Amino acid sequence: MSRSMSPLDARNEKLLASLREKRELKSLQTIDGPMGPVVRLRQPDGTVREALCFCSNNYLGLANHPEVVEAGLKALRDYGAGTASVRFICGTFTPHHTLEERLAQMLGVEAAYSFVSCWNATEAVFPTLAEPTDAIISDELNHACIIDSIRLAGVIRKGVHKFIYRNNDIAGLEARLAEARAGVGPDGVIFVVTDGVFSMEGSIARLPEMRALCTRFNASLVVDDSHGTGVMGRTGRGTHEHYDMPGRSVDLFTGTLGKALGGAAGGFVAGPRSAVDVIVQRARPTLFSNALPATVAASADKAVEILMNEPGRVARLHANVASARKKIREAGFDVLESPTAICPIIVHETARAIAMSRRLLELGVYVIGFGYPVVPEGHARLRVQISAAHEEPHIDALVGALKRM
Ligand SMILES: *Cc1c(COP(=O)(O)O)cnc(C)c1O
Repeated sequence: MSRSMSPLDARNEKLLASLREKRELKSLQTIDGPMGPVVRLRQPDGTVREALCFCSNNYLGLANHPEVVEAGLKALRDYGAGTASVRFICGTFTPHHTLEERLAQMLGVEAAYSFVSCWNATEAVFPTLAEPTDAIISDELNHACIIDSIRLAGVIRKGVHKFIYRNNDIAGLEARLAEARAGVGPDGVIFVVTDGVFSMEGSIARLPEMRALCTRFNASLVVDDSHGTGVMGRTGRGTHEHYDMPGRSVDLFTGTLGKALGGAAGGFVAGPRSAVDVIVQRARPTLFSNALPATVAASADKAVEILMNEPGRVARLHANVASARKKIREAGFDVLESPTAICPIIVHETARAIAMSRRLLELGVYVIGFGYPVVPEGHARLRVQISAAHEEPHIDALVGALKRM
């Protein structure tokens, strides 16, 4: 008797077929070499083609920096692959402490703690720090890990009040804060959480006004600055530095090591010692899951060291961003204005965004198109991401290819 398809297999096959039919099936490119301004893309027929990469978060060009690579190799030799344990049992290596001290120093806060990803770090925050009578107020465009962390807090800590405000709508935030404060009482904890840089718009949170409101309502400001760290501000400290705000003006940071800071993987929480310590004591991702590999901790530590020692790298990124935005606009495209390294080119229809990104790849330019349901219907875009590693001819080649669309 032949085995019939299980209900799960049947359902999965059906879903994939429907995605294929709607042309929404993602195809994953394979890169055959290190990340950099030029990448080697393996083709379905096995051959390899070079393309200019404008879709990585390798903002500072550190993903394949020789010192970042060497630091990882050295840690692998010194510590082996890992501890085969979670951190509170026997899973903390010296490079974890070194990295965490450097991250805290970079942000100008008391303490930091690393995780295998920012997703994990964020998931550690609300289910751990929120109590059933607290309120969490979130921007509608916040990253999926923030949304899921809040949802999980709602499940684990039944009774947590959740509020959402329109993207960067300060009046809306003020109204939610007033509601939340009335609901939780004078001593209840209120969290206001935002991305520092919104990844689809390339826009930034209005942190000074948010800080002022949080102070007025005695709320705690939590910022996930994954796209801001290493990018925003004169020395790349993040979105708060862009506004000349000290690190301590943010009550708790989450961030990634998987973008500007080396690009391998890993994330962190950073802020007051007490909040970090409670997360170390209580957060389920730290109690039940292994540490960041020492190789990655050492590479990320080197990346942060380079960021702090070479402000010229951040300046080069800022110059590239300004040049790319100017040239894309001069070529007649509608590029959203902002100081971030994310330059979305609005092309409206999803099909057009997908067709353009396919055509650009044929021309040797690797840019991803985002459409519905990732962004609202009619707002499809190509998301161009700029790096300090790009040189002017790379940007000119991007614009040259865009002109042929
Ligand atoms: C990219 C990103 C993440 C995910 O980071 P990982 O370390 O890859 O889990 C989390 N939050 C924000 C805002 C991001 O942009």
